Amino acid sequence: MDRSLYHRWLEINLDNLADNFQRLKRLLSPPTKILVCVKKDAYGHGIVPVAKRLIKEGVDYLGVANVEEALKLRESKIRIPVLILGMILKQDIDYVIREDLTPTVSHLTVARLLNKKATALGKRIKVHIKVDTGMGRLGVLYRDTFDFILRIRKLKCLEIEGIFTHFPLAEADTSFTSQQIKLFKELKERLFKRGIYIPLYHTANSMALVGYRESHFNMVRPGLMVYGLYPKKGLELKLKPVMALKARVVFIKKLPKGFGISYGHTYRTKRDTNIVVIPVGYGDGYFRCLSNKAEVLIQGRRFRISGTICMDQMMVDVKDLKVKMGEEVVLLGRQKKELITAEELAGLSGTIPYEITTSLGFHLPRFYITDKKYYSLQIR
Ligand SMILES: *Cc1c(COP(=O)(O)O)cnc(C)c1O
Repeated sequence: MDRSLYHRWLEINLDNLADNFQRLKRLLSPPTKILVCVKKDAYGHGIVPVAKRLIKEGVDYLGVANVEEALKLRESKIRIPVLILGMILKQDIDYVIREDLTPTVSHLTVARLLNKKATALGKRIKVHIKVDTGMGRLGVLYRDTFDFILRIRKLKCLEIEGIFTHFPLAEADTSFTSQQIKLFKELKERLFKRGIYIPLYHTANSMALVGYRESHFNMVRPGLMVYGLYPKKGLELKLKPVMALKARVVFIKKLPKGFGISYGHTYRTKRDTNIVVIPVGYGDGYFRCLSNKAEVLIQGRRFRISGTICMDQMMVDVKDLKVKMGEEVVLLGRQKKELITAEELAGLSGTIPYEITTSLGFHLPRFYITDKKYYSLQIR
């Protein structure tokens, strides 16, 4: 369908995605591998187009949250290794084996079942072991890991391809994170001394990739930065945001001074003015708590949202600006010299950029761009 028929849409710039990926790759010393996290529909950017472009760029591994996401990749003929970062349950095992997925193992019962089914089918299954060095989420407790690995090694149809851990405080607490890295390194040495060779050791999310060189081991696991977003301020990496949110002005009206705007009249015109209506609201994944806070770009200038954001519309007081019906507005992304980032919207709404893109991506139609051309549409 013609893009001009859409009143609001996301643009996913796959060239920027590729650029970010290559930029991060240059921070690694070969032969360090890269697994890119494409869970939650690639942080809202669309798992299949994102995965296909990353494969072109040379990604080694893809990381998803569950079997359902992994199957979406396989259904799209994506055959590269896929690590399921979350847990599998016994009903997932048949799919894991059939589709050649790599599950994370941190539970002996599931591991034994997996081994039993694999044995029956005459297959060997690669698994990664998750170690909890201080996240308190999934994974085997650090002190139990060595014994756990010895037990998994007895299961003849499982092959331990990797072992990994995760950082809860990479942005905030360098000493805690360094301690986690130290523990992980000690485990690696202990295994080595026992003659146990595991091909892949990985710990680094985006923040650790740039902030802790010693966290790289031989594979890194970024998500956020590949999408051009920063886990914290002050990182100078020249990443390019991949997602933009655009819309068209659908209505313009002149209102007199003192006119209350939208539900609750939380905004009142300060003088005779022009109000435009933009067809984006909280039902599109644009948070209502951004009312009277966030700005939008019209003709390369910033204007604040005026009044409460509705389910599918918002109003903006543009004062004396001459605006045309159908004119393009940018709510996330660049217009001329101005740029609105997911970090900015996250800051204003008390959340993190991850939640901005996953929320918008879940709700809005997406157009993909390569070579400055629009090439396809994916409707949610
Ligand atoms: C999501 C996720 C990552 C990626 O984190 P970013 O902060 O997006 O780079 C890495 N490891 C695990 C286990 C994850 O769940």
